[in-house]
Amino acid sequence: QAKQEGRNRYRFFSQSIESDARARHLLESHMRSALESGVFEVFYQLRFDVSRQQSCGMEALIRWRRADGELVSPADFIPLAEETGLIVPIGKQVLHQACHDAKLLLDQGKRLCVGVNISVVQFREESFLDMIKEVLNDTGLPAELLELEITEGVLARDMDQTRALLDELKHMGVRIAIDDFGTGYSSLSYLKRLPIDVLKIDQSFVRDMLTDRSDAAIIEAIVRMGQALHLELVAEGVECSEQSQQLLALGCELMQGYLYCRPMPFEQLRKSLDLLPALEHN
Ligand code: C2E
Ligand code: MG
Ligand code: MG
Ligand code: MG
Repeated sequence: QAKQEGRNRYRFFSQSIESDARARHLLESHMRSALESGVFEVFYQLRFDVSRQQSCGMEALIRWRRADGELVSPADFIPLAEETGLIVPIGKQVLHQACHDAKLLLDQGKRLCVGVNISVVQFREESFLDMIKEVLNDTGLPAELLELEITEGVLARDMDQTRALLDELKHMGVRIAIDDFGTGYSSLSYLKRLPIDVLKIDQSFVRDMLTDRSDAAIIEAIVRMGQALHLELVAEGVECSEQSQQLLALGCELMQGYLYCRPMPFEQLRKSLDLLPALEHN
């Protein structure tokens, strides 16, 4: 009986590995053609300064609408894009679009900084810095309106190379944010050694902060540390006004989340900015 079960399990397992491999292969070839035909889109989510009641930036988020109309979540294709290296050309496309769109807004008098997510695979590419310079040059976006969002995973490896890269970016005027802060495995000592501008408090802490005292305590600790180190603090995933109130009380004034704005296509973002003419965008 046990043997029988074991055999069945084995067969089930090997089949799922095969179909996994096939599914991955299919996904990879779909990504390649999406890249070539330029169907990846970039959505934007505004970031708000809640105490000043104004928008203070936006984040570029990749969207992929497949031929059948279905939207594929980045979580479902970014990992494979990283494994296959496709994230390098895909990431460049996103960066270019994001800088282009931010420049368009700037030309209309709306000075919004744009955050772009950078994968560790892109960051470790030899041509990474040149790629950033090329895109800034091609689009004409001032470097200080670009913010690169990297994760702690980027910082966990090869400190010398990381510091050289970040110093160069800083020198150019590009801003650096640590995304999903508090969830990685890196040491905190990098915060004093690297030229970091922003900590984005991971949304997992925000999600449960009203019911879980540990999450609220972690947020409070991050805010205190960020203030002491003169870093900007952004809370991610703010969905209700109770969270927003408590974040404000803890000293975190910059927020991103469904409560304020969902990720949306550029044209829609532009229109909603037009509806807020009284706000100063900086
Ligand atoms: P992230 O950079 O931490 O982005 C925040 C994610 O939270 C986005 O998911 C956003 O849509 C979502 N979000 C925003 N507000 C709320 C909220 O109030 N509640 C909840 N539950 N979620 C909220 P999205 O767009 O699905 O992206 C997921 C992740 O995929 C991103 O996390 C980022 O790590 C990655 N990603 C997205 N675009 C790119 C890209 O162009 N390049 C790279 N390398 N990664 C990307
Ligand atoms: Mg991000
Ligand atoms: Mg995040
Ligand atoms: Mg993330």
